[in-house]
Amino acid sequence: MQILRSLPQYSRLVDTHAGFMPWVLAQGMKNARVKLTDVLLWWCDRKCPGCGGIKLGKMAICETCKGFGAREVPHEAEGLLISEHIGEHVDRARCGTIAALKLMKGLKVVAAQTVSLARH
Ligand SMILES: [Zn+2]
Repeated sequence: MQILRSLPQYSRLVDTHAGFMPWVLAQGMKNARVKLTDVLLWWCDRKCPGCGGIKLGKMAICETCKGFGAREVPHEAEGLLISEHIGEHVDRARCGTIAALKLMKGLKVVAAQTVSLARH
């Protein structure tokens, strides 16, 4: 919780008019902020609380996670829905970054050509 609260993005992510909050509210979920926060926390740290993600309990396979090493998304179906929604945004953000990087490369080439043209 502390980690999430200290993130500068946190307030933006649960802002009623920005981030994921409007979408969660639009789904008509009760305790939207609590659920969104819990799912965001799960995204930050999904290690199983029983075994700390090492998949083993004291003697055998961890009972909490059945050896998966991760805990389940909180708030069941609604939590899953929020998680999927966040996942889509994460994917989109990644694609956006790659596209931006490609654009940057293109701009650098153009800039380099402009410079070399100006020199000759
Ligand atoms: Zn476990």
